[in-house]
Amino acid sequence: MTYTFEPVGVIRSPYREKFGIPRQPSLVDAARLTLELLPPYNHPDCVRGLEAFSHVWIQFVFHQTMARGWQPLVRPPRLGGNAKVGVFASRATHRPNPIGLSLVELLAVETDDGARLRLAGADLLDGTPVLDVKPYIPFVEARPEARGGFVDGPPPQLDVHWSDAALGQLAALSDPPAGLAALIEQVLAQDPRPAYQDDPARIYGVVLHQYNIRFNIHAGRAEILEIQTLAQN
Ligand code: SAM
Repeated sequence: MTYTFEPVGVIRSPYREKFGIPRQPSLVDAARLTLELLPPYNHPDCVRGLEAFSHVWIQFVFHQTMARGWQPLVRPPRLGGNAKVGVFASRATHRPNPIGLSLVELLAVETDDGARLRLAGADLLDGTPVLDVKPYIPFVEARPEARGGFVDGPPPQLDVHWSDAALGQLAALSDPPAGLAALIEQVLAQDPRPAYQDDPARIYGVVLHQYNIRFNIHAGRAEILEIQTLAQN
């Protein structure tokens, strides 16, 4: 038996590439995303009453990586990148059905000219197709006594430092998106490097909005070296 689903909406996100996206929602609460609902799901009736909820579940397709298929065992970054667990014991993107699930804060529901949801803290790539939205119901779904397996708390955070050059470039940006500095700092504090990489000489780039943020990581500290403005397509 096969089932066919179509997206009800698409995500607009500052995360333009996979590298640098937090590994779970709410780790970078400075991220502001929009879920644009698509016709016919963008009728105001479809979201009536949703504004009463503070958080929503977003079900989405890992569309950028789904062509790579799946493996029964995966190496979660939280286990250092070597130990393996079963795909169903992980939140890995490569799954038999490449469907993701993120709990995100709902900031606003807008119904002028279609319908869109303003979201905070989501871990989603720009262009992600969304299959469904459901309100989060705290009395059923908040389980503080639950065991978290190998994910027993938030990941360690790096200190983040701005070089003078990057600070100058930030100040010189014309009309930057609101909260850009906080977004950069929170993303880098997550340590976006793959689990097995620790090369202080290596310079990385994370693309946020239309900016390439160049940085390196040394002795537990991320240094922001440069902000490059990319050509918009
Ligand atoms: N919270 C979700 C879950 O548990 O299903 C996602 C967890 S998954 C580990 C989070 C990662 O998915 C992000 O760090 C990003 O690299 C990746 N990702 C986000 N949107 C994606 C997309 N549309 N296609 C492929 N990968 C995506």
